[in-house]
Amino acid sequence: MTTVKSGMTTLTHFIGGEMKAGKSDRFGKVYNPSTGEVTALCPYASADEVNETVEVAHAAFAGWKNTSVGKRVEILHRFRSLLVQETDKLAEMIGLENGKTISDAKGEISRGIESVDFAINAPQMLKGEYSVNVGGDINAYSLKQPLGVVAAISPFNFPVMVPLAMTSMAVAVGNAVILKPSERVPNSALFISELWKKAGLPDGVWTIINGDKEAVDAILRNPKVHAISFVGSTRVAEYVYHEGCRNNKRVAAFGGGKNHMIIMPDADLDQAVNAFLGAAYGSASQRCMAISAAMPVGEKTAEVFVQKLRTRVKELKVGAYNDEQADFGAVITQESKDTILKYINESLAEGAELTVDGRNPEICEKENGFYLGATLLDRVTPEMKIYRDEVFGPARIVVHVNSLDEAIELINSHEYGNGVTIFTESGSAARKFTEQIEVGMVGVNVPIPIPVGYHNFGGWKRSKFGEGHMFGPDTVRFFTKTKTVSEKWPEAKAKDHKTEFAFPSNN
Ligand code: NAD
Repeated sequence: MTTVKSGMTTLTHFIGGEMKAGKSDRFGKVYNPSTGEVTALCPYASADEVNETVEVAHAAFAGWKNTSVGKRVEILHRFRSLLVQETDKLAEMIGLENGKTISDAKGEISRGIESVDFAINAPQMLKGEYSVNVGGDINAYSLKQPLGVVAAISPFNFPVMVPLAMTSMAVAVGNAVILKPSERVPNSALFISELWKKAGLPDGVWTIINGDKEAVDAILRNPKVHAISFVGSTRVAEYVYHEGCRNNKRVAAFGGGKNHMIIMPDADLDQAVNAFLGAAYGSASQRCMAISAAMPVGEKTAEVFVQKLRTRVKELKVGAYNDEQADFGAVITQESKDTILKYINESLAEGAELTVDGRNPEICEKENGFYLGATLLDRVTPEMKIYRDEVFGPARIVVHVNSLDEAIELINSHEYGNGVTIFTESGSAARKFTEQIEVGMVGVNVPIPIPVGYHNFGGWKRSKFGEGHMFGPDTVRFFTKTKTVSEKWPEAKAKDHKTEFAFPSNN
C-alpha cells in the first residue's frame, strides 16, 4: 500500500483498483495525535490527476451500472463481512491517525457498518412505481437510475463511519464513487479500498483521491462528476455547495453544529449528568453531534446539575488512543488545540466561570501529543464567542435559562441546527420541544440523537446546505435519477395510425 520516501512512509491514491503514487510532488503530514509524531506523508493530487481519475471512474461506470443489482449486493455482503473481520485492525488505524480511543473507534466502525447494512437493501429501495392502463392501453412506470460518477468529500473526525455513510448506497445503486478523504486521516480510507477490492468490486468503481483544496476544486468543476456529498466544517460546506451548484451538480453539504442539551427541573439529574459526559466529551468532543452546551432550566436546576457535573468532569481522563483507562484521546492537531485554548481564554476574559480547568492535563508533562483535558465553563452567555461558534474540542459550556420557552428561542436563533436533546419527565414539555425546535435531529432523554442507518441524517439551518440526507431512504433519492416511462404495445390489428394534435388526455 505504501512506498518509502526519504525514510518517511509516503501514502498513495487508490485508482483503477490499485494503489497509485501521487504525481504532483505536493504532500501533507499525517500525525499520530497521541504522540505528536509525523507518521506519513499524504499525496495531494493536482487538478490534472483528479481529472484523469474521473475518466477511470467514468469508464468503470457503464459496467457497474449494468451489473445486476443482486450481484452488486453480493459484493456489499462480502464487503460487510470483511469490515467485521478487520474491525480490530481498522480501529487501531483510526486511533493512530485520529487519536480517538480504540473503543470509540470500534463504535464508529459498527455505526458505519449500519450504512452498509442499509445499502444491502438496494434491490428493495430501487423498486419503482407501476401503473397499469393509465389510458388507451398505456402502462406507466418509473425507474431509478444511477447518476454516473459521484464524489464524497469527508472530514477527519470519523475516518470510517462518515465515508461509509456517504458512499455505501451510492455504490449499491450503481454509481462509480470517488472519495476524497480528509488529508489528516487517509490511511483508514485506503484500507477500506483494499476491502472493496477483496470483496470483488470491479476496478474503477471505488476510488480514493487524496488531497486538499486543489483536489476538491477539481472535483467540483469536472463535468463528469454528477453529485457531491460533502461533510466538514460549515465554512467549507457552504463553499462546496455554491461551487458545486454553480457547476450544475447535485450537492448535499453537511456542516458543523452547536448542539444543546436542555435539562428541565423535573429531569433525573444523575441520568442527565451521565448522558452529558459521554455526549459532550466523548471523542474529545470532535463529533458534529457532540453536545456543546448544557442548558439547565431555572437556577435551582442549574445549581444542582453543575455541582454534580463538576465532580464527574474532574474525574475524566484524557490519554493515548490505546490507553484503556482513557475516556477520550488527543485532539487532531496542535493547531486545533491552540484554537480551543483561545476560545477558553477569551470566554474567561468575557466573564465565563471556569468550573473545571482542562487546559493543562498532567499527561502533557510526559507526552508530546495534542492533549487537552475536559474543561467546563459555567455562566456562558449567548453573546460570547464560545457560545456562538462550534468549538471542536473538550471545552463545554453551561448556559442558564429561566424557562423552556427561553431555551427554545435561544436554540432557534442559533445559526446551527444539527442536533439537540431534552431531558425531562414531562410528556407535554417534550412534545412542545420536539414540535417547536428548529433543529434537524432531536432527542428526548437521549444523549446523542444520531439516527440509525435506516433513518435520514441531517441538520437544519447552517448545519446543512442543499437537499438530501445521509443514511436512510434519502441516500437512494440523492444518488439516483428518476425516469418515468409511458408504454403502449397495441395489438398489431388494432394499431391506430390517426395523428392527434391535441394535448394527450386519458379519455
Ligand atoms: P474541514 O471542513 O476542514 O474538511 C472537510 C473536507 O474538506 C476535507 O476533506 C478537506 O480536505 C476539505 N477542505 C478543507 N478546506 C477546504 C477548502 N478551503 N476548500 C475545499 N475543500 C476543503 O472539516 P474537518 O476539520 O475535517 O472536520 C470537522 C468538521 O466537520 C466539524 O465542523 C464538524 O462539525 C463537521 N462534521 C459534520 C458532520 C455532519 O454530519 N454535519 C459530520 C462530521 C463532521
